[in-house]
Amino acid sequence: MKVSEILNASTKAFPSIEIVPPMRGVTKTELLESIAPFMEFSPKYINVTSHRDEYEYRQEADGSFSRHLIRNRINEATVCAAIMSKYDVEVVPHLICGGTTAEEIESKLDNLAFMGINNLVALRGDSMSGEKRFTPTPGGYRYASELVEGIRSYQGSNSYRRERGLETDDRYFCIGVGAYPEKHFEAPNLETDIANLKRKIDAGADYIITQMFFDNQVYYDFVEKCRAAGINVPIIPGLKPLSTARQVSVLPEAFSLDIPLELTQEIAKAGDNKAAVYKIGTEWCAMQCKDLIAHGVPAVHFYTMGKSDNITRILQECF
Ligand code: FAD
Repeated sequence: MKVSEILNASTKAFPSIEIVPPMRGVTKTELLESIAPFMEFSPKYINVTSHRDEYEYRQEADGSFSRHLIRNRINEATVCAAIMSKYDVEVVPHLICGGTTAEEIESKLDNLAFMGINNLVALRGDSMSGEKRFTPTPGGYRYASELVEGIRSYQGSNSYRRERGLETDDRYFCIGVGAYPEKHFEAPNLETDIANLKRKIDAGADYIITQMFFDNQVYYDFVEKCRAAGINVPIIPGLKPLSTARQVSVLPEAFSLDIPLELTQEIAKAGDNKAAVYKIGTEWCAMQCKDLIAHGVPAVHFYTMGKSDNITRILQECF
């Protein structure tokens, strides 16, 4: 079932779970065990993030440099296949422009369609480590809106099916896109960023998932601005519980967001008590989640980042 159909059919908020593919070396059994705690809550779908390959250059004895793949992650489609082999749940792989040509994207779409996957989230992706700004791959897409256009122009298994006069479907994929209630860090202002978000919807995206935020008012104001700008698709809020004191400085830098003073003060009071910090972060997120549900959000998206304990506690309390 497509996420858009799930959203249309749903009468109350449901949780959606986002996982990060494991590093090479992790087994399929270990991956499935790591998501088992979420499956007890019968999520309607699982998002699987996508990561481009990263390389490092090593100097050889003769002074020359050789390129080496850094131990990378299992790709999103393989992780989706593993999940589908065990659980009866929809999977939503993420697809990024970074490091990929438009032709390679078509090939990825063919593979997803072959597996019967008709949901995805279309994203630009971040710059490579060491790169200040995102550089598009030659022959690739510059922005997520271009990727959405590319996906929409893909019709079923595309040229192969068209050439044989077989049925094709230009709405085969249900497409989610990302949005930033506190503005994407590269955008000059929130209004411009929202105008760029609208390009993704106009190109054919079906719904939006937001970046994490720690103050619900930021999300409510953002939704209001999106509606005023003519964006009428569902906007699913994204949450992540703080789990360590270090994240108070890491998350704002990594994701360009604010953490409310009240939360940072509570965490500072907990000092070196890691269990207390974890509890504060979990309770704060549960409070956000309950308030969002009370405000009638369609779903709440959880960035699990490989952790399940705090998220399952929140799911138990809120759903
Ligand atoms: P875009 O929508 O392309 O926007 C990027 C920037 O360009 C913005 O500042 C925007 O305002 C601007 N812009 C857009 N269109 C135009 C235009 N036509 N002209 C000028 N400026 C323009 N990253 C991963 O690598 N893998 C993942 O799996 C992943 N999952 C994510 C899931 C969610 C829900 C979210 C919110 C983010 C995720 N990210 C992921 C991070 C994302 O790739 C980065 O935040 C990236 O920097 C921006 O991606 P985007 O799709 O929002 O880009």
